[in-house]
Amino acid sequence: MAQLTELKQKFVQHFGGNEADISAFQAPGRVNLIGEHTDYNGGSVFPAALTFGTTLLIAPREDRKLGFASTNFPLTKEISLDNIAFSEEDDWANYPKGIVWELKHRGIDLSRGYNFLFHGEIPNGSGLSSSASIEVVTAYALLALEGKPTDTVEIAVWSQHAENEFVGVKCGIMDQFAVANGRKEHAILLDCDTLKYELVPFRSGDYKLVIGNTNKRRGLVDSKYNERRSQCEQAVKDLRQAFPELTLLGQLTLEQYQANEHLIQDETVRRRARHVIEEIHRVSSSMEVLKNNDLAAFGQLMNGSHDSLRDLYEVTGIELDTMVDAARSVPGVLGSRMTGAGFGGCTVSLVHQDSVERFISEVGSKYEAATGLKPAFYVCDIGDGVREIKGEA
Ligand code: ADP
Ligand code: MG
Repeated sequence: MAQLTELKQKFVQHFGGNEADISAFQAPGRVNLIGEHTDYNGGSVFPAALTFGTTLLIAPREDRKLGFASTNFPLTKEISLDNIAFSEEDDWANYPKGIVWELKHRGIDLSRGYNFLFHGEIPNGSGLSSSASIEVVTAYALLALEGKPTDTVEIAVWSQHAENEFVGVKCGIMDQFAVANGRKEHAILLDCDTLKYELVPFRSGDYKLVIGNTNKRRGLVDSKYNERRSQCEQAVKDLRQAFPELTLLGQLTLEQYQANEHLIQDETVRRRARHVIEEIHRVSSSMEVLKNNDLAAFGQLMNGSHDSLRDLYEVTGIELDTMVDAARSVPGVLGSRMTGAGFGGCTVSLVHQDSVERFISEVGSKYEAATGLKPAFYVCDIGDGVREIKGEA
């Protein structure tokens, strides 16, 4: 890979030393294919790792210092291994620092210092999980170089904990889990509560996943997200009249829910709950249709998911809806939906490879005309989770 050779040269220019001492690792970004706002309701999600992500070049040092650089940000940092604390001014370097802090917290003290050069291909802050990618690649590389086990489930849990507790972002486990455990041509059916998971073959054949970034700034996400969560809790409380032990909506079948929906007093809360239950059902239906590799049926389920997020859960907005509508009007598109928490961020569409060019130009111009925003598109395949890359690999 020409890029790896170039990155190694950059590494030596910045940190000095010898190219032969550099190891290289890569972690992908991720996209959730279906199962939105199900994770905190005891349902499953269905993310997949992407073929692009974050590359880390790393080499040990003689002293007990950590040197951080990134091709994506001008800030570079050198800090002592013996004094790891969150600091606002360290900006992006808090993500890898958080991993060193987490390892220490788990009883793994690094035996020496390291230099790190990151190179990210994932747009930051658009919901493709560049933060999980940088965390997971750092954790995997440090464990490998320290001769410790690289259990990718553990790495996901530790990385999420570092983002929650060190960086201070209250994210769920899906992102780190997908980035750590993804596999080429598979998506991951994951129960975020129990971490039970299954790699499900997703052979896209002549179809590509096209991710469209709305480039809409996501303003009120946190407060709206918390509001949705408490509405789900309210629905559970109301439904306890029929199911006294109920703690999460996902514990009910579609039929149980339908027979008791009337117990939910508030009309808005009822719509929120109906989205959750039906979305969980769509995830199960997805497993059925994917057994037969029926991508057209899966595309319909993706459409159903978006429509429900728009009409019942109300987390889409004009940008996501415009992009999805434009996508569905292009021939060769099997399905299109928002992905992530909503209110901006990205859409994901299943597009025949012969239509990809037309898709990008038509959806791009319609979207820009309607919103005044310039979108970005990424044509993706499903790739592997975190790994070491050697030589020309
Ligand atoms: P998302 O995870 O959706 O991309 P976040 O806001 O959670 O967005 O994480 C983005 C942040 O992660 C960046 O602003 C930066 O601090 C850090 N980050 C991600 N990738 C890199 C990279 N390649 N180099 C340096 N920092 C990175
Ligand atoms: Mg993130």
